[in-house]
Amino acid sequence: MNPLKPLRAKVEDVKTEAEGVKTYTLSTEFPFVAEPGQFNMVGYPGVGEAPISLSAIMRDGSFKHTIKSVGRVTDFLKDFKKGDELFFRGPYGRGWPVKKAEKKDVLIIAGGVGLAPLRPVIHLILNSRGSFGDVSLICGARNEKNVLFMDEFDGWAEKIAVYLTVDEAVQPDRWKYYVGLVTDLIDRVKIKPERAIAFVCGPEIMMRFICRGLIMHGMSQSSLYVSLERRMKCGIAQCGHCQHSGLFVCKDGPVFSYKEVRGLPDGVL
Ligand SMILES: Cc1cc2nc3c(=O)[nH]c(=O)nc-3n(C[C@H](O)[C@H](O)[C@H](O)COP(=O)(O)OP(=O)(O)OC[C@H]3O[C@@H](n4cnc5c(N)ncnc54)[C@H](O)[C@@H]3O)c2cc1C
Repeated sequence: MNPLKPLRAKVEDVKTEAEGVKTYTLSTEFPFVAEPGQFNMVGYPGVGEAPISLSAIMRDGSFKHTIKSVGRVTDFLKDFKKGDELFFRGPYGRGWPVKKAEKKDVLIIAGGVGLAPLRPVIHLILNSRGSFGDVSLICGARNEKNVLFMDEFDGWAEKIAVYLTVDEAVQPDRWKYYVGLVTDLIDRVKIKPERAIAFVCGPEIMMRFICRGLIMHGMSQSSLYVSLERRMKCGIAQCGHCQHSGLFVCKDGPVFSYKEVRGLPDGVL
């Protein structure tokens, strides 16, 4: 099969998550299988493609993408409705090392749309809760209008510790969670560094401060994982758009250990 040939997917459902962010439930003629943290190149002929992570991988073979409109492709996709068809290639890339997290305490730390690639990890952990130690989700957004999957947090909080914060609350009297930076919340979690693993996704500057904070708590660079965003074209390590310092973000990543990518010339980690 030609790995660059786009496949059709039918839009089964569209849900508005936050300002400018929608989740699309997609189905294909074959069951779609992927790992948490992998991505598809999603798009439409004549418009273009964008790398988008899986925000859910369903048991029935369908899958979800949560997309923020920021430009050409993502703006085009924002008007798609139930019954429309879009195109994708994938799944591509190396996802979160969930197997490595078994029996460990897991810290899942997300900023903004960075929660989307981590949601399949949360689903997987909730489905086999006994296989993991203490699990904490620390999640931040600019304000309450930017929090993704708000209606799922209470359900998640029944099985894992959930810390939710906004930089600034638009309606402080109605906001029942924290106000402040995600980095401030790390101190609230009891971290046992020798048995902890962290999965971090968000703006690169946030990931930098989170990783530095976790290292201050005694965690090793190799137990911290981040998901990198770089401009991509082919998604299969052929074109070199996302390549730097010998690494292809599309194929060797997008998930890397902090140790692998710390100090890369074009990054801020
Ligand atoms: C592996 C991976 C997974 C991703 N997962 C998601 C996801 O789940 N949901 C989501 O909403 N977005 C995700 N993104 C980001 C998404 O790919 C970009 O927002 C998208 O490519 C923008 O395309 P566009 O044509 O709409 O915008 P463009 O018109 O191409 O660009 C709009 C603006 O975004 C910037 N930009 C475009 N692509 C990137 C990029 N890859 N990195 C940094 N800046 C960029 C441009 O410089 C420009 O300022 C992911 C990116 C990667 C690499």
